[in-house]
Amino acid sequence: MSTLRFRVVEKAFQTKPREVKSPAQRPSEYFAKYVFNREKMFRYLPTQVYEKLVDAMDHGAPLSRDVADGVAEGMKRWAMELGATHYTHWFQPLTEGTAEKHDAFVEHDGKGGMMEEFSGKLLVQQEPDASSFPNGGIRNTFEARGYSAWDPSSPVFVVDDTLCIPTVFIAYTGESLDYKAPLLKALRAVDKAAVEVCRYFNPEVKKVMAYLGWEQEYFLVDEGLYAARPDLLLTGRTLMGHEASKNQQLEDHYFGAIPTRVAAFMKDLEIQALELGIPVKTRHNEVAPNQFELAPIYEECNLAVDHNMLVMSLMRKVARTHGFRVLLHEKPFKGVNGSGKHCNWSLGTDTGIGLMSPGKTPEENLRFITFVVNTLMAVCRHNGLLKASIMSATNAHRLGANEAPPAIISSFLGTQLSRAFDHLENSSADDLGILEGKHGMKLDIPQIPELLIDNTDRNRTSPFAFTGNRFEFRAVGSEANCASAMTALNAAVAEQLDLFKKEVDDLIAAGEPKMAALIRVIRKYVRESKPIRFDGNGYSDEWKAEAARRGLDCETSCPVIFDRYLAPESIRMFETTGVMTQKELEARNEVKWETYTKKIQIEARVLGDLVMNHIVPVAIEYQTRLIDNVYKLQSIFPKEKADALSAENQAIICQIAERTTYIKEHVDAMIEARKVANKIADERAKAIAYHDNIAPMLEQIRYHIDKLELIVDDQMWTLPKYRELLFVR
Ligand code: ADP
Ligand code: MG
Repeated sequence: MSTLRFRVVEKAFQTKPREVKSPAQRPSEYFAKYVFNREKMFRYLPTQVYEKLVDAMDHGAPLSRDVADGVAEGMKRWAMELGATHYTHWFQPLTEGTAEKHDAFVEHDGKGGMMEEFSGKLLVQQEPDASSFPNGGIRNTFEARGYSAWDPSSPVFVVDDTLCIPTVFIAYTGESLDYKAPLLKALRAVDKAAVEVCRYFNPEVKKVMAYLGWEQEYFLVDEGLYAARPDLLLTGRTLMGHEASKNQQLEDHYFGAIPTRVAAFMKDLEIQALELGIPVKTRHNEVAPNQFELAPIYEECNLAVDHNMLVMSLMRKVARTHGFRVLLHEKPFKGVNGSGKHCNWSLGTDTGIGLMSPGKTPEENLRFITFVVNTLMAVCRHNGLLKASIMSATNAHRLGANEAPPAIISSFLGTQLSRAFDHLENSSADDLGILEGKHGMKLDIPQIPELLIDNTDRNRTSPFAFTGNRFEFRAVGSEANCASAMTALNAAVAEQLDLFKKEVDDLIAAGEPKMAALIRVIRKYVRESKPIRFDGNGYSDEWKAEAARRGLDCETSCPVIFDRYLAPESIRMFETTGVMTQKELEARNEVKWETYTKKIQIEARVLGDLVMNHIVPVAIEYQTRLIDNVYKLQSIFPKEKADALSAENQAIICQIAERTTYIKEHVDAMIEARKVANKIADERAKAIAYHDNIAPMLEQIRYHIDKLELIVDDQMWTLPKYRELLFVR
């Protein structure tokens, strides 16, 4: 008898929402309470130090040792006033999540006592003994050292008793070992390239920022139910479980009233996020039962990425104090929607211009079209790479399934913008004319000025949709570090803007007026980027065929998709923009393949254990009970009648025998397949073997387990079912 399952279900139902005490103040008063932001820098640092630091933050000016010491001193004072006793370099290795190693502020004072010490040297650079982070071979030589180095563009913050310092993580030889270093390089590249292009329109622009507004989707599951599911505990997703009779078909969860216990969790989470300077704004129920979303106001991309990493760890922590576990896995449950992390992306200038926002004048709109069309070109040329940037063993479950973005990257522009593009493409140079107007010219692009009055024009199936003043990259996974996608996207756009600038300048040098040159190149790009534009249903089979005809990347195998990072055009793009070298790309791919293999390996092991310890024993026990019943019927009824009465049970006995046999045989076969795959030395080939031979077996075995779940006595079933995991809250 499965008492555990009933006990945890009962307890889950009884769990009362936890009281969340609102801080006495309003959010505006406690916002960034634990962040060493400019206001605190100004208060805690000597004026000269403050000015030097701001220069470093805004313009990347180098910091001298003296200044760093001054900053460290002020930071320490501020952090200690908040009760901090430790500090840590907080970095983002090539795993999920962040890494930190805490050190206390204490030092010997030389007189037999202790004092609190924190120097500029400790702030700026450290050498964590981090040899067990994935590095793809870059650090397996004798030079195994890795350094963490302070990123002054993201402010330090205090969590519990620790001062956290955002850092990059790099090898002694200079290669990036993390997500942040390449992202910073990509942001610098897109800044430089975009400023150059901006200057055709606005010569005063000095800096262009990339912005990111992420939307984090997640599931909440009661902690007792979670603990009773070894698959959730060890892999983050359910490896078996039949769909509940009701799931999301009534569409009654999306935007529905937020359950009380969940609301308490959200409130607590939001307060803590705001205190850490994360501008969280939106919360709602998502499509699947027990699925929710949290979104902040968009921020500068590097900061937004840090904030997303911080929010994910905060969610895990806060969920536990409310008796929940948060599931960030992209596909925790079969048959209901998975979770993504839409990444809303745009570019904007230091003068306050949103480069993805249409303007009021034709010139502003030409600038807008310039940036949109260059983005489309970048996405078109690197669509395979962008897919690789969001691909993982976990996100693979989501892409291409009938709910989330399809496994082909395309872009939806909306009817108005599409019409404007078509007009541009089909009009002659004269129509677009260089006639009268404010600056001596008028751009006859009729649809553009009214653009985006209507931005309700949406296509939910598009993986890269234009949504009024930004692009929304919807294929990013809920568990992912968005830096991966943002690095690829910003680098690709940077490369594209450089190419654009060169083409326009060449025309100008050949005597063409600036506006005519811009329009000529834009028109060419509108035509060349056409393959990426798609406004139809991204899930249809016709689109798959059409996309292949258009030459878009249609690969669906996760380990093979990683190859896109090593395609010559990707290497060229990353190298010319200074974001990553071929060596770094190769090392990272080793990590990706290895991670893929390990994830499937763990799932296969867990499923094997579930089968042997839970599924088969319970099914056999139930079967034995039925056999007993059949025998007993025989003993009290005449044979013919007994046969008739036990026919149903005999069929179930038979079905259990067949399914358990299938399951056991396939678990054995899966072990054999693993043995074969494990012998493969090459990481790519091994990952492909796991993808092709082992991952499908997980599904085949699951099919029979789920069928057993339907016929075995509910009281005997040990593992919490979907109806419990998804509907208890
Ligand atoms: P939805 O797409 O679900 O309608 P919202 O309208 O709430 O979502 O916006 C999603 C995210 O897009 C938010 O984080 C928001 O701040 C962000 N966003 C809005 N404008 C921009 C922009 N110009 N650049 C980047 N992100 C933006
Ligand atoms: Mg959105």
